Amino acid sequence: MAPAPHALVIPYPAQGHVIPLLELAHALVDRGFTVTFANSEFNHDRVVAAMSKKDGGAELLDRVRLVAVPDGMAPGEDRNNLVRLTVLMTEHMAPRVEELIRRSGDAEGGPITCMVADYNLGTWALDVARRTGIKSVAIWPASAAVLATLLSIQKLIEDNIIDAEDGSALRQEGTLQLSPDMPAMNTAHLAWNCIGNHDGQEALFRYLVDGVRAVEKCDFVLCNSFHGAEQATFARFPKIVPVGPLLTGERRGKAVGHFWMPEDHACMSWLEAQPARSVVYVAFGSFTMFDRRQFQELALGLELSGRPFLWVVRPDIVRGDVHDYPDGFLDRISAGGRGMVVAWSPQQRVLAHPSVACFVSHCGWNSTMEGVRNGVPFLAWPYFADQFVNQVYICDVWKVGLRAVADEAGVITKEHIAGRVEELMADADMRERAEGMKKVAHGSVKEGGSSHDNFDMFVEALKA
Ligand code: UDP
Repeated sequence: MAPAPHALVIPYPAQGHVIPLLELAHALVDRGFTVTFANSEFNHDRVVAAMSKKDGGAELLDRVRLVAVPDGMAPGEDRNNLVRLTVLMTEHMAPRVEELIRRSGDAEGGPITCMVADYNLGTWALDVARRTGIKSVAIWPASAAVLATLLSIQKLIEDNIIDAEDGSALRQEGTLQLSPDMPAMNTAHLAWNCIGNHDGQEALFRYLVDGVRAVEKCDFVLCNSFHGAEQATFARFPKIVPVGPLLTGERRGKAVGHFWMPEDHACMSWLEAQPARSVVYVAFGSFTMFDRRQFQELALGLELSGRPFLWVVRPDIVRGDVHDYPDGFLDRISAGGRGMVVAWSPQQRVLAHPSVACFVSHCGWNSTMEGVRNGVPFLAWPYFADQFVNQVYICDVWKVGLRAVADEAGVITKEHIAGRVEELMADADMRERAEGMKKVAHGSVKEGGSSHDNFDMFVEALKA
């Protein structure tokens, strides 16, 4: 008899990766797996601290076994330095993960039989799986289109679009399109080209090239997307298997991996008091940062829109850490109950709330999937790397959102923000298309849907 399935799930250590991978972990528990979830020590402590502040939070930790593995960085080091974090992780996490697998036979959950590793970890995790003789699958938590670009690096080099050594764009203002039916991308938005310094860029490029080699050895790579969202990409890259949209956060009462405590109570009861489809929800994910001018312009734009708004202002959202709101802004909005500002929201519950009318978003892939599966139109305001491709999907392919466009000085002005919100609110066709995408998204994860079938296939492959 095959041993009871026990999966080791390892996310890349960032908020936008931990949430969907923990959701995947719960989905595996639903299918009879024991799951050990290995966060970096730093993130493990944050997730556990956030959970223990929640009512009944401690019990929620029981379903999935959360374990901590050191990432090699000192406690106070800058974990937004992705290049350094990535290098250290390989050195420090690989031996600890190997030890975890080898010793798992003596532990309560029984021996670990398979690994689900975030693609972004690079090759080390899959190598450990091979060395320890367990099955492995990689999961890509962003769009299939971006993964397709990585899988096409060799072709991009041959077509003289990027440099073979460091991946830099060979043409200024270059765009690339892997096929006429896939979204066009700006070469400047390729992940490695978004790293500010040349050495970092080259290191990240090499790392990603290596990752591609590892994937060539996998049977398939799972992706948090769905067939109807990226049909053309899945047709051309059959190795990428969609199992999404993962229902992040819809599991009430189960750990979903927030690093900070979502401010459930206050903002959900504030939403309850708002009319149906009236609220502008504004959130820019876990690491987008603004300068002071843009932050103020956004505040004034929300005020000018005249609509109720719920705005997530993370403590570190403004460079320099000072939240310099426009004069009297907080008093004005709180006096009339016009708006609410929170440090972190239960976003998936917010987007599912009937009072929400539109989503001002940085277009991170999780936020994109969450907006789509709740049928909420977007004001698409990307900031970094793949978020620009996601904006193309939102605005040009699915047509469920409008672009936020900067003026000549590079500022998205208050007038523009208020005007775009108004356009979104008035556009019944846009709302209808968003509802249509929502249906397709839900259909794909229901029994008989394509993502559901793919999930079954992957579960069987891991159990075999
Ligand atoms: N999120 C949240 N509350 C917030 C802001 C974000 O729960 O106030 C969650 C959001 O639902 C998503 C994740 O954080 O699951 C952010 O991931 P995304 O890919 O959108 O952006 P990133 O943080 O990676 O830029």
